[in-house]
Amino acid sequence: MRSMSKFDRAFLDQVLQRTSIIDVVGRKVTWDKRKSQPARGDMWACCPFHSEKSPSFHAVESKGQFHCFGCGEHGNAFDFVMKTQNIGFSEVVEQLAQTAGLEMPKLSRDSVEKAGKTTRIMAALAAARQLFEEALIKDEGKIARNYLQKRGIDSKHWPEFGIGVSPNSRNWLKDRLTAAGHLVEDLLDAGLLRAPEDGGAPYDLYRGRLMFAIEDGAGKTISFGARTLNDDVQPKYLNGPETSVFSKSYTLYRYKSARAKTKKSPLIIAEGYMDVIALELAGFAAVAPMGTALTADQLNLAWRAHPRPVLCFDGDEAGQRAAARAVDRALPLLGALRGLAIALLPKGQDPDDIDDIIKSSGPAQIKQIIEAAQDFTKFLFDTEFAQEPLETAQAKAGLKSRLRARINEIKDLDLKSEVQIEIKNRLNHAFGRFPAPEASRDFGSPLQAQTRSRFGKFKEAVASDELKEIIKNNAGS
Ligand SMILES: [Zn+2]
Repeated sequence: MRSMSKFDRAFLDQVLQRTSIIDVVGRKVTWDKRKSQPARGDMWACCPFHSEKSPSFHAVESKGQFHCFGCGEHGNAFDFVMKTQNIGFSEVVEQLAQTAGLEMPKLSRDSVEKAGKTTRIMAALAAARQLFEEALIKDEGKIARNYLQKRGIDSKHWPEFGIGVSPNSRNWLKDRLTAAGHLVEDLLDAGLLRAPEDGGAPYDLYRGRLMFAIEDGAGKTISFGARTLNDDVQPKYLNGPETSVFSKSYTLYRYKSARAKTKKSPLIIAEGYMDVIALELAGFAAVAPMGTALTADQLNLAWRAHPRPVLCFDGDEAGQRAAARAVDRALPLLGALRGLAIALLPKGQDPDDIDDIIKSSGPAQIKQIIEAAQDFTKFLFDTEFAQEPLETAQAKAGLKSRLRARINEIKDLDLKSEVQIEIKNRLNHAFGRFPAPEASRDFGSPLQAQTRSRFGKFKEAVASDELKEIIKNNAGS
């Protein structure tokens, strides 16, 4: 990236990560319908930089890049806006940052000092990670090593996941890092130390825990997740605090690695670090939020990596509630390039389920569960349908109005009308109004759904006269 820029690299990366190259380019060109594959974020158009009749201008969402095979113009979203609007770099950054909902960094007198601060914080976090990793293979790592062995995570994988251990001692990390020249103030700002409220000396935040390095989109350590090694100690998982380099709501665990794998795997959004590691070792692209409910920013990140991520939650009540919350959060954001599927694990499994399943049955069973994921529409319907018995007209009307309220949260008009059709279809089927037409059956696994052509779906739909009615009514509403 531009070395003369007054913005720091992390901020520019953040803007690019939150910007859709296809949205940006799509404002200037008309996509070629035959050559483009919207579901894959792979789009073609006639080049805006040279004159041509057949499209040789290519934009790929997962790469965040455009390229013209005719004239050779290429670049990222910044380049495209600069070249088409003829404005300067700073202005482009400002424009795209605003669209992405990011606040511009303050470029005041202390910006140089602040850049220095960020560098010092990142250095402290990297040094801490190394110390945790080293401790894991020494005497103090014995309990942690046993736990990892039980979980089937081989020592050759520890460094790539940044797995380590924090010895159970008040000043273990603080002593080592200050001896290496780090300032206590920086260690506090990095979220590695905790300052007692009574004003006493700061001490190690992580003590006696299995450590998981949390990385940013570029693979740099920005925080830690920490699991207790003593089941009597609460909380079971302790996550690093918000800092100037770590925002919980905007970080997905293992995002960089998962993004690189989404050509060969659906993107799975799991619940915990151990789930993600087990899934990744089994060959899947997997991420997890930071021990909190999924945020809009995290969903946007997931969609930058894959157009239809699969939420993989426990099949128990808590898992279903978590899935329902995630769907709520997603509805206003869903669109043609932003889908969502839900895979609920079989009920009755213990916590730490996914890695248990992989260990006992191998990746094949997980693959089955992921491929059987329901589209969010079916999940929405089933959730509302299960609310109360539908024995009276009143109860049926109640179901209809709840579903309508949910559908109204979808802002993308094309998607909304498709969901309306499907939900009406499911309602009629559920109320026994007509025998299940072909189009009312489940729309299959995510993989099947991806390969199903829109034309094929349309043919299925018009095969039923009653569906024609529904479509007609819908077009008028
Ligand atoms: Zn061109």
